[in-house]
Amino acid sequence: MAVVRLPNGERIKFLVDCGQFLGEDDKYNYLPFTFDSEDLSFVLITHSHIDHIGMLPLLVKKGYRGKIYTSEDTKVLLPYALEDTCKVLGENAKRNRRPKFYTDTDVETTISHVCDCPMNVPIYTSPYTKVFFFKNAHLVGATMILVIISYPGYEDINLLFMGDYNNKNVFLDSEELPDWVKELRLTVIAEATYGCMVSSEVTTCFGENICRAARDGKIIHIPVLAVGRTQEALYFIRNLQKDRFLSTDVSIFYDGKLGMKNTKLFTNGSLHIKESMRDFLPQNLTWVDKTIRQALIEDNGCKIILSTSGMGSYGPSRMYIPAFVERPNALIHFTCYTTPTSLGGKLKQAGQNEKVEIAGMVVRKKAEVKYTAEFSAHSKADVEMEFLKKFKRLQCVLVTHGENESKEMFASRILDNVHTKNVCIFDRRNYFIMGPYELIKTLPSKFPIL
Ligand SMILES: [Zn+2]
Ligand SMILES: [Zn+2]
Repeated sequence: MAVVRLPNGERIKFLVDCGQFLGEDDKYNYLPFTFDSEDLSFVLITHSHIDHIGMLPLLVKKGYRGKIYTSEDTKVLLPYALEDTCKVLGENAKRNRRPKFYTDTDVETTISHVCDCPMNVPIYTSPYTKVFFFKNAHLVGATMILVIISYPGYEDINLLFMGDYNNKNVFLDSEELPDWVKELRLTVIAEATYGCMVSSEVTTCFGENICRAARDGKIIHIPVLAVGRTQEALYFIRNLQKDRFLSTDVSIFYDGKLGMKNTKLFTNGSLHIKESMRDFLPQNLTWVDKTIRQALIEDNGCKIILSTSGMGSYGPSRMYIPAFVERPNALIHFTCYTTPTSLGGKLKQAGQNEKVEIAGMVVRKKAEVKYTAEFSAHSKADVEMEFLKKFKRLQCVLVTHGENESKEMFASRILDNVHTKNVCIFDRRNYFIMGPYELIKTLPSKFPIL
C-alpha cells in the first residue's frame, strides 16, 4: 500500500495488487489488513495471478467501494480466477475449520468495481495522481504500472511497479517501454523471484525428461498454473509431437476447470494474444473432470496428466501428487517456482525414498520428481538488471516478491551493477518514506511476523 501525503495536508492511499499468500502454510492470509479498506482512494492490479488478486474480494467485503483499475485482458481473466479462488479458499477454510474469507457475492461485487484500462495512456485516478499501464510479457494481460503523483509547484514523484516481470512470452508480441518513461526520475518496485539466478544457470530439461519418461512407459504428471503455464506447456508438448520426439499415441489429459476455461479464452480470440498462437493444442488431448480422475489415478499405464495448481497445493494436483509420488514408475515434473511451504516445495526438500507430509498425509517419495525454471514467466536477475539499467535517473529500487534470500541477493546484485542511489528490501518489517528526489527514511513497521 502507498500513502501519499500532499503539501495541503490531504492524504491519498492506494493499493497495488491484493494477493493471497500461497502454499500450505497460509497463516498470513488470516491476519487482518494493515489498513482500513474504506480509506483507499483506488486500487491498481498488475495481473491476474492469485498472489496478486486473491484477496480483492475480501477488500470489497471489508468496505472498499472505489475503482479497481487493470488492463483489458486482466479484466477478462479476473472473474474466472476469483470464482475459482473463492471455491478453493472455501474448501481450505473448511479443512482448517476456519471461517470463509469471502463469498461468491463478494466476488461479483468485486468484479463490478473493475475498470479496464488501455495500455500506454494516462488514467486519472485522483486529482493528484495519474497512472499508465504498460505491457509486460509475464502473462497475457500483465502490466507494469507507472504512478505519477503531481502537486502544483512541486516535482512529480514517479513510481514504477514492475509486477511480476518478463521480457518475452510465446503468446505475446513484446513491447518496449516508451523512451519518456526511461528519462523520468524514478523509483522502481522490482520483483526478486529469481534474484538468486541468472539466465545462464537455467538448464533446459523438461522436453528431454518428458520424452524419456514416455519412452520408459511412465505416468507423467505435470502441475501447471491455470493461466500462462497451462497454455505454454500444452504448446510445448505439441511441438514435441510435431518434432516426433513424443509419440502422439501417448494420451494427454488435462484436469483443472480454471485452466480449461482460460485455454478457451486463448483459442477463441477473447484475449490479445498473437493470432498465429491461437492454435496450440497437442493431439490426443482429453479434458477431464473429477468423474474420471480416480480412474486416471488408479491406472498405471503411460500417459501425461497436466493439472492445476502449479505448486501442487490446490486443485486436482493436490490429489494426483500424493497418489503418484509413491510410485517408482511416475515422473512428477513441476514447471514453475514452488514456495518452500507448498506441496512442490516440500517434495523438493525431501530426499528420494524419504517420508514427507503433503496434503495432510505422510507419503514416501518414490517417484522421480523434477523441477525446471526454463518455463518461468519471471525473468532471471540478469534480465531484470538490464531492464533497470535503461532508466537514466533511477533514484531507488525497492525489492519485493520472493524468498528473503532471493531479495537480498537481488538487492546486492543491483547495488553492484545498476546505477541507483538506494536499494531497499520490501518486507513486513519496514516501510519507506519517499521524496521526489530520493528515499528519505526507512522506518520500522508494527506488522506482525509469524
Ligand atoms: Zn505472476
Ligand atoms: Zn507473483
